[in-house]
Amino acid sequence: MSAVETIHVDGVWRAAASGAQREVLDPADATTLALVAEGGAEDTDAAIAAARRAFDSGPWPHTPVAERAALLRRVADLLQRDREVIALLESRDTGKTLEEGRVDVDDVTNAFRYFADLAAGESPGRVVDAGSPDVHSVVVHEPVGVCAMITPWNYPLLQASWKVAPALVAGNTFVIKPSEVTPLSTIHMVQLLVEAGLPNGVANLVTGAGDPVGARLSEHPDVDLVSFTGGLVSGTKVAQAAAPSVKKVALELGGKNPNVVFADACATDEGFDTAVDQALNAAFIHSGQVCSAGARLIIEESVRERFVAELVRRAEKIKLGRGTEEGVECGPLVSAQQLAKTQAYVASALEEGAVLRTGGKQPEPSDVRPATGYFYLPTVLDQCHREMRVVREETFGPILSVESFSTEDEAVTLANDTEYGLAGAVWSSDTARARRVAARLRHGTVWINDFHPYLPQAEWGGFGKSGVGRELGPAGLDEYRETKHVYENLRPSPVRWFGG
Ligand code: NAD
Repeated sequence: MSAVETIHVDGVWRAAASGAQREVLDPADATTLALVAEGGAEDTDAAIAAARRAFDSGPWPHTPVAERAALLRRVADLLQRDREVIALLESRDTGKTLEEGRVDVDDVTNAFRYFADLAAGESPGRVVDAGSPDVHSVVVHEPVGVCAMITPWNYPLLQASWKVAPALVAGNTFVIKPSEVTPLSTIHMVQLLVEAGLPNGVANLVTGAGDPVGARLSEHPDVDLVSFTGGLVSGTKVAQAAAPSVKKVALELGGKNPNVVFADACATDEGFDTAVDQALNAAFIHSGQVCSAGARLIIEESVRERFVAELVRRAEKIKLGRGTEEGVECGPLVSAQQLAKTQAYVASALEEGAVLRTGGKQPEPSDVRPATGYFYLPTVLDQCHREMRVVREETFGPILSVESFSTEDEAVTLANDTEYGLAGAVWSSDTARARRVAARLRHGTVWINDFHPYLPQAEWGGFGKSGVGRELGPAGLDEYRETKHVYENLRPSPVRWFGG
């Protein structure tokens, strides 16, 4: 495969029909990391046509589920074989640390294994009691058809795997469009699918921009389902473009996730240390470029000053640098655009009255290597309130806003005061209170005394404007299946509804 043949259609790697290419940048120093094909509408149409043919007349939808699951397991093994290569690709492409890249590959592997086991372990249909011995009624699942998958740049391979693994094991064909900012690991994954023996046309890949490639996938009448992970603005466009063809739409969008800390969680030294440590992790891992980032610290007023002071002390020690360097804890932001967005959010927060406790700027060039990367210091903004943009909108940068409360009701009101609803956490040593608050939070995932873990067995997705549908878990497989009821009359006879 030459450098620009990154479009995969019907088993063939090719360049863009237009010949256009795109530079993929290394965010740690803004140099060119790779060249990829810049696909357009023509390439997208060809990929959709290949997926359509493979679905309508290819073997994959009719391949026994045990064989489809076996292919997923082979892919999982190949992912582990290439663990270091993929982790390095992901780290160089996104800026995240190499260790985070390794964790991602393991999580991707687990997603493939989970969906293989889930589908292979199911019974082929659910017999329904029709209330009559003369009726045999069964509910079965069938693949949806041609799936379009549009993925973001923060967890490129992980987000792809939550779509690719269930779609394949359910018998679908697909066209995937990775983020134009970070396409490299997805290209590698498609190579592994081919190596694992997937028939031609089942997995197609178009590298290119949101518009035209993502837009074309969303509107195309031959696409049966579009599964999108990304921001609210693009997600809304996907849903609008998909509406006229009434295709199925799954949206995994952003979040503005509260991390609610009660004073009792900090009553012991160990509790205090854990809550501070996890608040740092919640807000600053991957420089805050995480859909479930705990970007809103909502802390009980009585412990606020002590907590924030310690948080600031430790945030200032976070070591920034190239993600592949030993000892680096946070890489750069993914792009110049993301850096500018972060700067703008901090500026607006300060104008609106937030108090800057630390960060709020790029590191001095002498404090970070390479000096030309898109680095930004972990930033803590105190005295924030809901009218501020930085509290309402997803910044997707290393910015933690601090709000405080005095009562449990107030904590819940603040935590739910968002148009999003992806994830949130509550910290308390009082189990009854923690569970009470968790039950009142309007978010798709709620952590009690933890932040960020997720399980492939448990559904992931959002309330409100965080999205539509769920990934992972049994519901994450059902997204890629049609449900069919087969009602068989074992003793047919006339119904005599009409007299003639
Ligand atoms: P983005 O919306 O800018 O882009 C996401 C994808 O959509 C990219 O592939 C992009 O090319 C494509 N796209 C852009 N415009 C499009 C259009 N008009 N039609 C179709 N596709 C289009 O998002 P991003 O900046 O890449 O990623 C960050 C966002 O993703 C954040 O909002 C984050 O919260 C969200 N995210 C959500 C989850 C989740 O599980 N809910 C996970 C990861 C990221």
